[in-house]
Amino acid sequence: MDNILSLKCLVCGKQYRPDEIDYVCPDHGDDGVLDVQYDYNFIGRQISRENLLQADNFTIWRYKPMLPVRPDAAVPPLAVGWTPLYAAPRLASALGLKTVWVKDDGLQPTASFKDRASAVAVVKAMEKGAGIVTTASTGNAAAALSGLCASVGQSNVIFVPETAPQAKIAQLLVFGSRVILVKGSYDDAFELCLKAAKNYGWYNRNSGYNPYMTEGKKTAAYEICEQLAWKAPDRIFVSVGDGCIIGSLHKGLKDLLALGWIDKMPKLMGVQAAGSSYLYTAWKNGEDILTKPPITAHTVADSISAGLPSDRIKALAAVTETGGAYIRLSDDDILAAIPDLARRTGVFAEPAGAAAYAGLVNAVNRRLVSGDEEIVVLNTGNGLKDVAGAMQAVDLVDTKPFRIQPDVAALEQVVADWDSD
Ligand SMILES: *Cc1c(COP(=O)(O)O)cnc(C)c1O
Ligand SMILES: [Zn+2]
Repeated sequence: MDNILSLKCLVCGKQYRPDEIDYVCPDHGDDGVLDVQYDYNFIGRQISRENLLQADNFTIWRYKPMLPVRPDAAVPPLAVGWTPLYAAPRLASALGLKTVWVKDDGLQPTASFKDRASAVAVVKAMEKGAGIVTTASTGNAAAALSGLCASVGQSNVIFVPETAPQAKIAQLLVFGSRVILVKGSYDDAFELCLKAAKNYGWYNRNSGYNPYMTEGKKTAAYEICEQLAWKAPDRIFVSVGDGCIIGSLHKGLKDLLALGWIDKMPKLMGVQAAGSSYLYTAWKNGEDILTKPPITAHTVADSISAGLPSDRIKALAAVTETGGAYIRLSDDDILAAIPDLARRTGVFAEPAGAAAYAGLVNAVNRRLVSGDEEIVVLNTGNGLKDVAGAMQAVDLVDTKPFRIQPDVAALEQVVADWDSD
């Protein structure tokens, strides 16, 4: 791949050729996360903002010269990427803000942001001629890999905690993955999956381990900026578990700055659940994330439950280097944000997706954001992924259906009550 210079270890700075190494820096075990270094002069000769105006490919592959795949690589047929960026004027004015957009990655083929990474994983696995691809996941990365593999007939083995929401497990079974339900946490599933991949030689898609996952996910940053006609927003709010997504947004924005396609770096705002706030705490207290021990994570927002965020190096840098912030929210604040976001925009998010919006509300209340800023909220997962969470949310805000006998008199009673409201 002529667009790649090296894979650089984020712990020691050592650089490797992409054909030398698949995952992490051998000198640092599983902590030696690698960052793909690009030749931006080379890329700038392959693709430009003007070319993109003519591009008729509305998937992540419109940015193929900026991705770690060969120019002629076959890509999976599912339409991953180019999700809508909705203007949200009612939501903005309710918060006293001028401009808010909601990027809805709940509309991806398997209904979460994770499709962006899994699409790249499938290409890399095919490149390596891998017999089996594997991942551990709280659910969405699993469903994404499962669906993307099904689209090309690639065998795969998936590790998820047995407590993952039913809809996510249903996706895995429907797509025909071999599904291992782990009686333990996501962190336990992650450890087991790493061991399995090493033992059996399976291609490993795990975020914060496989360096190419960041590269697939960074396409969201490209899309946001292209959809805004290359005027970068002031801030982007996103929820954070392992930290791969926020790190990937940072990476995408750095690429665009290096290419001269945008002229400022948006502030990245990472939103964590109080019960899974490793990165919030590390950021707030200036702790060393190479030595900080894991926490025990527990939150209703299953997609951001991570005791030891595997992509913590990139995730912390994303906030500190952009002048953003980490925000910590209670599960109730996260749940209440589901109907609030839905009613103000028509976007139905799963708890971890709504958390990004809850983070914006919190930041406005704490005056971390000024009214004239241009803000993007990233919804990372569809609300139908976690119906139990959604029902808990509407209960929390006291929204109830009217249960009646099937006759007009009963209905009239209900309507009369509304009129007297
Ligand atoms: C995975 C995921 C996140 C968090 O991404 P990380 O890379 O783990 O920080 C947020 N929301 C949803 C819906 C997800 O699936
Ligand atoms: Zn290293």
